[in-house]
Amino acid sequence: MIICPGCYVDYMKLAIVNQTQDIIRICPECNCIIYKKEGRIKTTNLATFMEKRGLPDLWSELTLLETEETAEEETYEEAKDLFPAIEE
Ligand SMILES: [Zn+2]
Repeated sequence: MIICPGCYVDYMKLAIVNQTQDIIRICPECNCIIYKKEGRIKTTNLATFMEKRGLPDLWSELTLLETEETAEEETYEEAKDLFPAIEE
């Protein structure tokens, strides 16, 4: 499990954005999002992420995935260095 690097309160949940099929990690506590774009790790929040895609910033737009952690996800550790900066 990856503790949220934004608020340190909850764990990041793996989810798919229904409309775009983007795979993201989102914190249920503060709605911050970590995702990969062109091989780089980006951090943002739900409202900004969805607004840029013309979608409502609702959790109902996401499908949460119940999966085991994979080795690849260890790279999200890098995201800790990016918070609280928000970039797209
Ligand atoms: Zn959080």
